[in-house]
Amino acid sequence: MTAPAARDTAPRTAVVVGGGLAGTTAALQLADAGVRVTLLEGRPRLGGLAFSFRRGDLDVDNGQHVYLRCCTAYRWFLDRIDGARLAPVQDRLDVPVLDVAHPRGPRLGRIRRDPLPVPLHLARSLATYPHLSLAERLSVGRAALALGRLDPADPALDGIDFATWLGRHGQSARTVEALWDLVGVATLNATAPHASMGLAAMVFKTGLLSDPGAADIGWAHVPLGHLHDTLAGKALDGLGVRTLRRTKAERITRADDGRWTVEVPGETLTADAVVLAVPQAETHGLLPDGALDDPDRLLDIGTAPIVDLHVVYDRKVLKRPFFTALGSPVQWVFDRTASSGLTGGGQYLAVSQSAAQDDIDAPVAELRERYLPELERLLPAARGAGVRDFFVTRERTATFAPTPGVGRLRPGTRTRAPGLYLAGAWTATGWPATMEGAVRSGFSAAGAVLSAFGRRHDHPLQEAA
Ligand SMILES: Cc1cc2nc3c(=O)[nH]c(=O)nc-3n(C[C@H](O)[C@H](O)[C@H](O)COP(=O)(O)OP(=O)(O)OC[C@H]3O[C@@H](n4cnc5c(N)ncnc54)[C@H](O)[C@@H]3O)c2cc1C
Repeated sequence: MTAPAARDTAPRTAVVVGGGLAGTTAALQLADAGVRVTLLEGRPRLGGLAFSFRRGDLDVDNGQHVYLRCCTAYRWFLDRIDGARLAPVQDRLDVPVLDVAHPRGPRLGRIRRDPLPVPLHLARSLATYPHLSLAERLSVGRAALALGRLDPADPALDGIDFATWLGRHGQSARTVEALWDLVGVATLNATAPHASMGLAAMVFKTGLLSDPGAADIGWAHVPLGHLHDTLAGKALDGLGVRTLRRTKAERITRADDGRWTVEVPGETLTADAVVLAVPQAETHGLLPDGALDDPDRLLDIGTAPIVDLHVVYDRKVLKRPFFTALGSPVQWVFDRTASSGLTGGGQYLAVSQSAAQDDIDAPVAELRERYLPELERLLPAARGAGVRDFFVTRERTATFAPTPGVGRLRPGTRTRAPGLYLAGAWTATGWPATMEGAVRSGFSAAGAVLSAFGRRHDHPLQEAA
């Protein structure tokens, strides 16, 4: 048996399976702590569900990704890969909300914050929000204060849906549409009746009620692939991580000596620890027997789709960097012109549709017919504009489905098999499926590995606290 003191200094090895944000984070943290890491990614690129591809001269993201100032783990990740300046956060929360169904014509409202303490930072914005009546605005204020008193980790909250809670707190269909779902659908990837109240409380409490700047929005001003693949790959290379792209783990087993083997085509890797950072279904397929009490529960964690419609106009049709819409099937619209590298005076908009069950299987022609007239309704300048290109990206399993009760199904990082750890946005992070949740799960997995190795884990969020 190795003495603890010798164990501290012996070179330790780990294989991380999955090069999404969770696996990349775990690999970075383990390598930072001196562990020899091999990172396996089945696809030709890192970044997992947040990636880019080329279409002609354009760099296209598979889906618009945003994060909030309160996403401290993802911000750590951006800093760690030297990418923070390429994905800045707006100075102060400012979301234009355009209602095209108003009887007296389209109306623009804004969700903005003031430089005041919580909850006063949003008081003026709510008081002047034109898409709700005075009575509705007062009821939203009361519900927000009640929400602020909840503990998102309370298991009872996970058992009920967000819509039921909102109904109990006097919220009308209009307040749900014009405010709660406006934020909730984009962050949870589900409408209120299909979202766990625990996850909804987590999002609204952390984003809107924890710190005045918590909900300021950040997004990549470069293709996502530049951050999550190019820069992350560079950081991993700098630490000596062996990163194997196009390399799928096929089997994971524990040898009699307690070490792990990971089989990939043409090679068998051995390591002291394995971090399995792949989606829940793939995890289920790779888990060795006995690693979880009831592995089939992983298959009960559903998935939810996101669809993005990409429209390249022959001229500028939108002045703002983004906006969100009411009274239209269009949800959020982002100007992607600069980040895609589009030149020649046109404008490239990405229309981001969460909880997209109705659109995920629709043919491109049908989506074009549905959304182009809507964009013309929302953006007068689009009415005479030519459409140079229209295409669709579909992510059927964009996120885990945040349904009530999902909290019971999400496993933690530790398994029953010593040396095997789980990571991924779908594991028990307390967050909905986000880049933040993915990075947090990578922290947890790296922390568990290092603690088993008797090594110190410099948890970045504790340092920041
Ligand atoms: C269109 C879209 C929009 C989104 N918008 C936002 C947003 O605005 N804000 C936000 O915070 N989040 C958003 N998300 C969610 C966010 O992208 C994910 O939660 C996060 O990227 C998940 O990271 P992950 O590492 O947990 O998993 P994944 O990204 O799924 O990574 C798992 C990796 O494992 C690899 N893999 C699988 N099996 C194997 C194997 N056997 N061997 C080796 N490798 C394997 C996969 O190829 C993949 O790269 C969005 C997602 C999508 C799809």
